[in-house]
Amino acid sequence: MIDKEWNGKERGSVDRDTLEKYLAGTLDINRFRDYCPNGLQVEGKPTLSKLVTGVTASLALLEAALERGADAVLVHHGYFWRGEDARVTGTRQRRLKLLLANELNLFAYHLPLDAHPVMGNNAQLGQLLGLSDEGRFGEQDLGWLGHVKARTVGELASIVASALGREPMLIGDPAQTIDTVAWCTGAAQGAFGEAIAAGASVYLSGEISEPTVHLARETGIAYLACGHHATERYGVQAVGKDLEQQFGIRHEFIDIDNPV
Ligand SMILES: [Zn+2]
Repeated sequence: MIDKEWNGKERGSVDRDTLEKYLAGTLDINRFRDYCPNGLQVEGKPTLSKLVTGVTASLALLEAALERGADAVLVHHGYFWRGEDARVTGTRQRRLKLLLANELNLFAYHLPLDAHPVMGNNAQLGQLLGLSDEGRFGEQDLGWLGHVKARTVGELASIVASALGREPMLIGDPAQTIDTVAWCTGAAQGAFGEAIAAGASVYLSGEISEPTVHLARETGIAYLACGHHATERYGVQAVGKDLEQQFGIRHEFIDIDNPV
């Protein structure tokens, strides 16, 4: 649906169910064993024309989205994670209250948004860092393998720093040369062992844990912790741009900074 009245520009709107169906197909949501529901998590207005994307459906993101006149928010980290306390109290109550009182739709896509071959977090991060796409590794094929122009781990760390606007934490020798690079956004430090088994000479992820350091030291495979939030800002933006093109709705990405 196109409305030509808005600022002389074409402004579209889309039916919530059409959007959900489109995203379910595009992101192939049924292919994944995930620990949260992927799709519409909180139902709001039946028709939407302004979408805000963000990494996490925090209260700050919801407030910013409402200020910008959004009808829907699309995030990578939504709600209702497996094993979570299900009660609607505290921060959960405040977030849900704000969504429901304003009929703001909440869409969330977790693993499907990490894995999408073009719009996914790993695809987008790879593109940003100039990594070639040469294969997958690990559980549900979530990890990516490729090559980079940088010759050493230190050079790769500087590429990351300028691309993400923050210094990564490097565990390893900056002078070590690179062959295969493995990467997986977010909290994928647990896949370090699988990355090593897949032949990586350096592994790049978002977070880091205490044992990660020992694994890097004892195998001689470098580890780059680039930030959970910082590495997962790009999938939702790619999806937002795609929806803008597909349906003519307005899209805005809002970055609520997170040092982790
Ligand atoms: Zn994440």
